[in-house]
Amino acid sequence: MMGIIEKFKFIKPGEVRTRFAPSPTGFLHIGSARTALFNYLFAKKNKGSFILRIEDTDKERSKPEFEQDIIENLKWIGIEWDEDLYKQSEREDIYTKYLKKLLEKDTAYYCFCSEEELEDQKQEQMSRGLPARYNQKCAQLSAEEVKKNLDAEKKAVMRFRTPAQKIVFNDLVRGKVEFDSSLMGDVVIAKDLTTPLYNFAVVVDDFEMKISHVIRGEDLLPNTPIQILLQKALGFSQPEYAHLPLILGSDKSKLSKRHGAVSVAEYKKQGYLSETIINFLAFLGWNPGTEREIFSLASLIKEFSMERVQKGAAVFNIKRLDFLNGFYIRQKSPDKLTELCIPYLVQEGLLEPVFKTESYPPAYGGMSISQKYRVVETKEEVSFDYLKKVVAIYQERLKKLSEIIELTDLFFKDKLHYDKKLLKWKDMSDEEIKNVLDKLTEVLSEIKDADWRKKNLENILMLEAEKIGDRGKILWPLRTALTGKKASAGPFEIAEILGKGKTLKRIKQAGGLIE
Ligand code: GLU
Repeated sequence: MMGIIEKFKFIKPGEVRTRFAPSPTGFLHIGSARTALFNYLFAKKNKGSFILRIEDTDKERSKPEFEQDIIENLKWIGIEWDEDLYKQSEREDIYTKYLKKLLEKDTAYYCFCSEEELEDQKQEQMSRGLPARYNQKCAQLSAEEVKKNLDAEKKAVMRFRTPAQKIVFNDLVRGKVEFDSSLMGDVVIAKDLTTPLYNFAVVVDDFEMKISHVIRGEDLLPNTPIQILLQKALGFSQPEYAHLPLILGSDKSKLSKRHGAVSVAEYKKQGYLSETIINFLAFLGWNPGTEREIFSLASLIKEFSMERVQKGAAVFNIKRLDFLNGFYIRQKSPDKLTELCIPYLVQEGLLEPVFKTESYPPAYGGMSISQKYRVVETKEEVSFDYLKKVVAIYQERLKKLSEIIELTDLFFKDKLHYDKKLLKWKDMSDEEIKNVLDKLTEVLSEIKDADWRKKNLENILMLEAEKIGDRGKILWPLRTALTGKKASAGPFEIAEILGKGKTLKRIKQAGGLIE
């Protein structure tokens, strides 16, 4: 296996190297995805490398399914990392080496204080109005005492002898940042020689991986001073820092589950497109400085600059998300959009794929254009082209792919269930509705199958509507009879797709409600 040093020896001096370092303790959060994107954009813009590092040192909270979700959803939004991904759980030897180094230099020491003892110390300090920090009880233990405790397997942690000093650094987003480490106390950096905690593992990895820029959420800013001190203690160079602004919900409180979906997977499930997510994330704390709103990943790489990342919090605006998604949905070819919508109809139980025995299971587990489908309720087989027609009439108004279910279910049902009041236009009486439905049956029955096209239907029915005077009196009962819905696409396009037989059947069903 290639050693870590060898692996990095080809890195050019001054090369930009960024990393996304998620802990797999939850699904890929929209805020984390924003961090990943900004790291990716900054690296690519500067012709550098972007790496993915899974920070799974917390063995209890890290779960393989979260790691899987992070990887899958990064790929889904199009963020690809360079090099194989790194996992902290596979790098214990490296941490051990550096922990030993700190112990040898006596910049770190073993602490054997129990949790109760620490709690008592804290209470005591607080009662005296002092900041709570470790009282250094174990800071001066002799080598013999430490050995005795370790031999007796007394529970221990490792603490960093935090030097008391002022730490000043330039943050690429926030400018000059200052901290006073005297308030921090001797922080715990590892549970034992093979179990480093976050601050220590990050410092070692950022150095070993030659990270030039640490770009991460502002919530991690308080960790930066201790990381800088650890870098100094280990003789490491200091990367540049850029802390990205917090993301707030529309009510200006920190974005959380209360505001709705927070994981990328949930947005995907609702039918937001990956292009939408990328574009939306880019604007959470960055803007191009122009009116331009639409950016592909490639154009973001071109336009992105850290100077245009704001310091103030970014507000999550779901209206913008919907606007962008509608835009990208309208850009899709009808074939592509249909492919994207079909899984929702299948998931809802309206459609089922028909597998030819020899092609089961389908390659890639996906739905291909040649695939046949069956309407679950009626058992009719429908072609991809038929589904394409159904989807196409809603392309303009679709905001999320999941809406396709509610919009098009009428095409996959035998009988519609609705209240007869729905058929009524303005103050039409039942009798008037009945007459209109009869008239529709009469006129439509005469149209030949070959002539059953939207334009033709429109010409013929508009003539009838002129005769009645109020168009609504014929178009409304027709449209509602065909759809069972207050709002839908227009009656002619729906009638064309339903075909003559079903159109007449639905008008008859509507008539049945009146009697
Ligand atoms: N693993 C840390 C987290 O998920 C981030 C580490 C870092 O970016 O420094 O919060």
